[in-house]
Amino acid sequence: MRRTVYNEDHEAFRETIRAFIEAEVVPVYDEWFAAGQAPRDFYYKLAELGIFGIEVPEEYGGAGEESFKFEAVLYEETARAGISFGGSGVHVLLCLPYLKAYATEEQKKRWLPDFVSGKSMYAIAMTEPGTGSDLAGMKTTAKLSEDGTHYVLNGAKTFITGGVHADKVIVCARTEAPKADDRRHGISLLVVDTKSEGYSVGRKLDKLGLKVSDTAELAFVDVKVPVEDLLGEENKGFSYLGQNLPQERLGIAVGAYAQAKAAVRFAQQYTQDRTVFGKTVASFQNTKFELAACKAEVDAAEAVCDRAIEALDAGELTPAEAASAKLFCTEVAHRVIDRCLQLHGGYGFMNEYPIARLYTDNRVNRIYGGTSEVMKSIIAKSMGL
Ligand SMILES: Cc1cc2nc3c(=O)[nH]c(=O)nc-3n(C[C@H](O)[C@H](O)[C@H](O)COP(=O)(O)OP(=O)(O)OC[C@H]3O[C@@H](n4cnc5c(N)ncnc54)[C@H](O)[C@@H]3O)c2cc1C
Repeated sequence: MRRTVYNEDHEAFRETIRAFIEAEVVPVYDEWFAAGQAPRDFYYKLAELGIFGIEVPEEYGGAGEESFKFEAVLYEETARAGISFGGSGVHVLLCLPYLKAYATEEQKKRWLPDFVSGKSMYAIAMTEPGTGSDLAGMKTTAKLSEDGTHYVLNGAKTFITGGVHADKVIVCARTEAPKADDRRHGISLLVVDTKSEGYSVGRKLDKLGLKVSDTAELAFVDVKVPVEDLLGEENKGFSYLGQNLPQERLGIAVGAYAQAKAAVRFAQQYTQDRTVFGKTVASFQNTKFELAACKAEVDAAEAVCDRAIEALDAGELTPAEAASAKLFCTEVAHRVIDRCLQLHGGYGFMNEYPIARLYTDNRVNRIYGGTSEVMKSIIAKSMGL
């Protein structure tokens, strides 16, 4: 079926990204993999390419694009090549929507030019050692000082993508205790400078997959955060998280679907090259059936993503629809990548083969941005259950 979601500009962007990945990422990817992160300088290259500024308004140095489609192309192309751009994904996908929606004019002038140039890399810290799915249970506190000039931040966060390299972190913290009838009340968002006294980065976590993305623990001990760096209104943070999670979830859905599509391509190529018992693996009926079934699942996931991308651009994508897209596409990717790895035999288990990296990288898609179980809860609630 012909895809109608992208126009000529998106396809031209796709060609640029594909060439960039071939030239700048593929040749050094094994080094990044071994080092456990992409080098900081690489983010300046992404900035030069204009990646960070696509959706930033022109007055702050960006291209002023409103559509999510360029970002979606980016996820498709990184997945296609079986690589990732390290922890920088959260900079745009997760953090920018908050800065655009809730920063004041003064804050935008102060923050967005450095965001676009890559001088300030952003991460977002919601999850804590004691709470992930149940964010209302967070314990990190930000108490307003007596003179009202700053907040005093104390607590710890974990699993923070981009946490090692980040220059600024959007930290979710309690500025007030929850209300008896509203556990979500009292959470605020603060843009914290990682050079602040009392701010520290703990372990860079050793993960099953996503080896080139830095994921870290963060700790805050009496960190002074100027009141000028409060993002949006005090105590309304939880509703901000709710409003922005659909875009994050769609980004994960698109990435997962594209990984599944790449897996089919890799498996098709591999099974046509590999000979066993005197014939190619692709010539077995089982291989044909497996790849055909995988392709049908990928086509369905692509259709879901395309509709969801259009809905997001139109401002119509509901939280339940985003949850549905994430649930479906990540579960499809899980099944498809596993089946495609199986067709590689033992080579599929070797990290030098992209299918092995897709397998481990993809696993987290059913966990972060909200687990599959949480997605089902959101969908069920929208059904009145
Ligand atoms: C690689 C990686 C990167 C991440 N990056 C970030 C980041 O940049 N910033 C950030 O803030 N967080 C990040 N996270 C955290 C991620 O969003 C959480 O791990 C996720 O939300 C799940 O929370 P948890 O790990 O505490 O699991 P838990 O909430 O402890 O869940 C454990 C199990 O209980 C299930 N469960 C929970 N609630 C329900 C329910 N209501 N009904 C049924 N089952 C339920 C879950 O589905 C899961 O199976 C990252 C995580 C990973 C692994």
